[in-house]
Amino acid sequence: MIKVENLHKSFGKLDVLKGITTSINAGDVVAIIGPSGSGKSTFLRCLNLLETPTSGQVWIDDQDITNKSTDILKVRQNVGMVFQHFHLFPHKTALENLTYAPLTVKGLTKIEAEEKAHALLKKVGLAEKANEYPNRLSGGQKQRVAIARALAMDPDVMLFDEPTSALDPEMVKEVLDVMKSLAHTGMTMAIVTHEMGFAKEVADRVLFLDDGKLVEEAPPSEFFSNPKTKRAQDFLEKML
Ligand code: ADP
Ligand code: MG
Repeated sequence: MIKVENLHKSFGKLDVLKGITTSINAGDVVAIIGPSGSGKSTFLRCLNLLETPTSGQVWIDDQDITNKSTDILKVRQNVGMVFQHFHLFPHKTALENLTYAPLTVKGLTKIEAEEKAHALLKKVGLAEKANEYPNRLSGGQKQRVAIARALAMDPDVMLFDEPTSALDPEMVKEVLDVMKSLAHTGMTMAIVTHEMGFAKEVADRVLFLDDGKLVEEAPPSEFFSNPKTKRAQDFLEKML
């Protein structure tokens, strides 16, 4: 589903990603963990060209998205993204947040888009909030709307960048539960997270990034009980 080959990204003189190679199969749930500043967000953003890689290749669904002739808007339609700070449209209701892209980009009719939006809001437990504006929703509710909004485009892949880091502790679970049930539907997911318990329980694989490099890649059972590198050991010691 996703293939990354020797991915480099620099901002000016700052080398942030220093040659990352990995792949994510259809249906895989991958947790990306590592210290702050290690390049996790940059890596995720390179997967849908919110950042342009300096060199290297990224394939999504067999399309080299770094190739200039690839229609990136088309690729991006298939890659849902959920951010730490929700990024909802503040002047649209929850329902309108969900219908906007399907109406304008996918050409769904209003009836189709709304039907789908209602179904998705129900799925994330927010059926009764369809007509609320974001500022009337809690953080956990906003994030669930953001997840539903991404799903409204029928993506093949969902990328999450610390989706629970901005939430009050009591709201973390409701968002993780939505992500967990999404994982169980077979969605391909890449999740930057500090929720080690979630990574352990839900991820098929952990990618540990440090200083712009993919230092370890292993199933959670292996990674958490037997990290191979000193850097991962030190990181886990601080986290757990
Ligand atoms: P993480 O998500 O692991 O905390 P990031 O990918 O956000 O790490 O950042 C990695 C490094 O890249 C940091 O040193 C950060 O300051 C730098 N960086 C990220 N985005 C930009 C940018 N747009 N311009 C310049 N530097 C950036
Ligand atoms: Mg980050």
